[in-house]
Amino acid sequence: MMMFRPLTQRWKFQGQVHPSSFIRIIYIEEDIVAEKKAKKEKIPRQPMPEQEPDVRKRNFEEVPIGYSAETAMKEAERCLQCKKPACVAGCPVEVDIPGFIGLIKDGDFTGAIRNLWSKNSLPAVCGRVCPQEIQCEGLCIVGKKDAPLAIGNLERFAADYERNNGTGELPPKQKSTGKKIAVVGSGPSGLTVAGDLIAKGHDVTVLEAFHKPGGVLVYGIPEFRLPKDIVFSEVNFLERLGVNVECNAVVGRTVSLDELFEEGYDAIYLGVGAGLPRFMNVPGENLIGILSANEYLTRANLMKAYLFPEVDTPIPIGKDVVVLGAGNVAMDSARTAMRLGADRVRIVYRRSREEMPARGAEIHHAEEEGIEFFLLTNPTKFMGNDAGRLTSMECLKMELGEPDDSGRRRPVPMEGSEFDMDCDLVIVAVGSGANPLLTQSTPDMALNKWGYIEADPETGKTTKKGVWAGGDIVTGAATVILAMGAGRKAADSIHDYLTWGW
Ligand SMILES: Cc1cc2nc3c(=O)[nH]c(=O)nc-3n(C[C@H](O)[C@H](O)[C@H](O)COP(=O)(O)OP(=O)(O)OC[C@H]3O[C@@H](n4cnc5c(N)ncnc54)[C@H](O)[C@@H]3O)c2cc1C
Ligand code: SF4
Repeated sequence: MMMFRPLTQRWKFQGQVHPSSFIRIIYIEEDIVAEKKAKKEKIPRQPMPEQEPDVRKRNFEEVPIGYSAETAMKEAERCLQCKKPACVAGCPVEVDIPGFIGLIKDGDFTGAIRNLWSKNSLPAVCGRVCPQEIQCEGLCIVGKKDAPLAIGNLERFAADYERNNGTGELPPKQKSTGKKIAVVGSGPSGLTVAGDLIAKGHDVTVLEAFHKPGGVLVYGIPEFRLPKDIVFSEVNFLERLGVNVECNAVVGRTVSLDELFEEGYDAIYLGVGAGLPRFMNVPGENLIGILSANEYLTRANLMKAYLFPEVDTPIPIGKDVVVLGAGNVAMDSARTAMRLGADRVRIVYRRSREEMPARGAEIHHAEEEGIEFFLLTNPTKFMGNDAGRLTSMECLKMELGEPDDSGRRRPVPMEGSEFDMDCDLVIVAVGSGANPLLTQSTPDMALNKWGYIEADPETGKTTKKGVWAGGDIVTGAATVILAMGAGRKAADSIHDYLTWGW
């Protein structure tokens, strides 16, 4: 039998590695990786237990139930612990994915959440709503031959485990710098900035227009996808760290940015989102029974209309509901309408399935719950009765033409294909824009042609001294993790400014 000496001795040749050794070393490494892969691939991706579609489509409880510790450890075993992990490159905040998964595999759940927190201040949220299939999981090496690691499910597990079983111990506090920062907006970007700057010893106040903090995480994404207690517990964690959260503060109306500086703030971060609803601008759109997804979801989620009669927020309950659009907002609206008691819910979208912007998991869940999809279809007119109430809409069939500016194939109307669709409630979910309230009251800050704030992509600095911006108000409607990534960069830049100057 051949005996092997350690590689260093075996392949060293006069102080250098012998050229032929590279080939052997590569073979050995490849064998080890292949062997590891073969072993791991035998464990299938662990499915996420979920409420049954027929049950969940009439309740607002969370759809996925979550991994048990055993399931999480088994799933974590599938990770190859790649030396150059492709998954990390797919994560906008570069979470140490193999690191936290390795800790879960070893049963060190506290270590796993500490590892996650070092890069991501909202792991319970991201584990639930990030589009993992096109980010980390989309690049996972295991996914080349098998289902990729369930990175999102594992992130969610670590965060939930800490919330339910952790000690709630706070990280050590930095010495106060005496600098004051106002964060306008309490969505994921504002919360990230607040968390990062309080950790550096600054004094942080978050100013939020609504009566509850959390941004879209609270007013947009429904309870059955992201329970609000989870968001509030993340906000509560920041408050325990010393962040001051003031709700019902509409900056631009109750106070201007210059007044905030006069009050003694040294820097301001704007994370006010892009919550201005867009409409179709087709005849009949002002009939009773047509409303924006933004209003519909805010009534249902933030104002808890689904808890009627315990909570008496008014909300239109449609029996024959049509949702226009095919992004996450559309899926959330359709699934909410179903839960509020609709007999039939249809999604109407002018492109094909391939172009639907919603997360794959949301489309799948919507289909399971009986939502119908009318693709390559576009509304051209809404019709109502004498009381001005919506009764139906006229649609045109579309076909796909050449790609447009977004790179997606342009929908082209098919002549003579008009048809009518009966409906008593239409929810318009075709996108949103920048709310001008704050920006109009700040004329000395540059905006782009769509009304979004101009900010340096690397630092978040705006053209107004002492003011940073990030998240949807800079990029237009995007994702939670991108808003958080922008917040992190801005927090670093604000800290530099407070330490060294503009
Ligand atoms: C229904 C819905 C579902 C979504 N689903 C997903 C998903 O599954 N995955 C995903 O990654 N992304 C999803 N998104 C997108 C994601 O939520 C946003 O990209 C993200 O929340 C943007 O974060 P933000 O911090 O920039 O702004 P926001 O979350 O919009 O927060 C902005 C906050 O600023 C406040 N504000 C506005 N103006 C003022 C003012 N003048 N003074 C004080 N406060 C003000 C607002 O009230 C709000 O609370 C979804 C969006 C919606 C609407
Ligand atoms: S790419 Fe997949 S297998 Fe490799 S480290 Fe990341 S999660 Fe693990």
